Amino acid sequence: MRIAVVGTGYVGLVTGTCFAEVGIDVTCIDIDEKKIENLKQGVLPIYEPGLEEMVTRNAQKERLSFSTDLASVIRGCGCEAAFIAVGTPPGEDGSADLKYVLAVARQIGRHMSEYLVVVTKSTVPVGTAQKVRQAIEEELEARGVDIPFDVASNPEFLKEGAAIEDFLKPDRIVVGVASERAEKVMKKLYKPFLMNGHPLIFMDIPSAEMTKYAANAMLATKISFMNDIANLCEIMGADVNMVRKGIGSDARIGNKFIYPGIGYGGSCFPKDVKALIRTASENGYQMRVLQSVEEVNERQKSVLYNKIHAHFSGDLSGKTFAVWGLSFKPKTDDMREAPSLVIIRKLLEQGARVKAYDPVAMEEARHALGEAIEYGKDEYEALIDADALLLVTEWPEFRSPNFNVVARLMRDRVVFDGRNIYDGTELREKGFAYYGIGVKQQV
Ligand code: NAD
Repeated sequence: MRIAVVGTGYVGLVTGTCFAEVGIDVTCIDIDEKKIENLKQGVLPIYEPGLEEMVTRNAQKERLSFSTDLASVIRGCGCEAAFIAVGTPPGEDGSADLKYVLAVARQIGRHMSEYLVVVTKSTVPVGTAQKVRQAIEEELEARGVDIPFDVASNPEFLKEGAAIEDFLKPDRIVVGVASERAEKVMKKLYKPFLMNGHPLIFMDIPSAEMTKYAANAMLATKISFMNDIANLCEIMGADVNMVRKGIGSDARIGNKFIYPGIGYGGSCFPKDVKALIRTASENGYQMRVLQSVEEVNERQKSVLYNKIHAHFSGDLSGKTFAVWGLSFKPKTDDMREAPSLVIIRKLLEQGARVKAYDPVAMEEARHALGEAIEYGKDEYEALIDADALLLVTEWPEFRSPNFNVVARLMRDRVVFDGRNIYDGTELREKGFAYYGIGVKQQV
């Protein structure tokens, strides 16, 4: 089989590479010439564990290639499916901006020469497949040709940091189709990924489009709910770590995704929650739960800063803060909507000095923060002369630091733990002031 994947970001590159891994001939297309040139040399635009080696291996076996020339890939190359995996950033009103998706659809319509399933992998609102169909039809009409094609919706559920595992062994694959022919192509494509008994769920296209938003909105809701509970625990003298264990053992609730923290970020939850709220309001319905989810999340991004502000009695000028972790979550370099940015900017506004370390996201962080902060060579260097340590992203390497060394390097022994990964009692015994989220506070 042969396919094209348009858009070579986190989703497109992982999708293309994983399809190549199971023996499908894949061409990944992007308009970013530098990105494609680098990929041809084996240089990846993103950090994703295991991806570089998989790209190199499949490129060497000539199952995976890269191009900027959508026209010649789509025209007469025997592709059975073309995946659209370009960005759908939030527009000013919060709705998903479909200009990249529809631009690709039009290009496909302009150049396709035989039956093709055009699959939307980007996260798009209900009704988008219809717009994609229309855009292609208009182009075919303008060319005066009648080439059969189908549209399909195949939302992606991979998690950055575990993307390969998620793609190769998905919990489920959701595909929205409107014809048996498209269903057959999609079944053939995904057959190699069903070995572990995970379901390939076919449904109508609007339901598939909605499924992605419903999944992300549910996950965001869990996070905001636990953050709200954590904040109340703190006020009432309860410990959210205990509460989490207490509720998580109920199978109806489950123990995943109920960890409090400093708010969700990344390229998906914030924009998808916004887009769903927007879709609803455009159609005369108010998503009240999600409106609160968003509100709680915004507030939560300041929770750590508020604790810092209170500890230092509002006087942060000239203080030095070591920040461990910058990416919005571990095992990725993605800085989009990272809570670290909110905290760091607030500290800088107050005249504080910030020394940060992240295992892979410092280059991306430089794009957002420039040289307004200092970057450590490692987590310990970032601590030198710090008045406090802020644990922002729970990278595995930050979990068990040598606190004797930490204490020696810092000017003052204060830890603000935004992810509750440390034991407050243990740290207090070592002479640290410790602040977590939803747990007994220092002093
Ligand atoms: P990304 O920004 O990393 O990549 C998008 C790529 O598309 C870029 O390389 C860009 O140059 C390219 N592009 C834009 N217009 C193009 C065009 N006309 N032709 C060819 N290439 C073009 O985005 P991403 O994080 O991979 O997300 C893509 C989509 O997948 C979004 O809708 C997102 O919501 C969804 N999604 C993302 C994740 C994730 O974890 N990142 C997970 C599931 C779904």
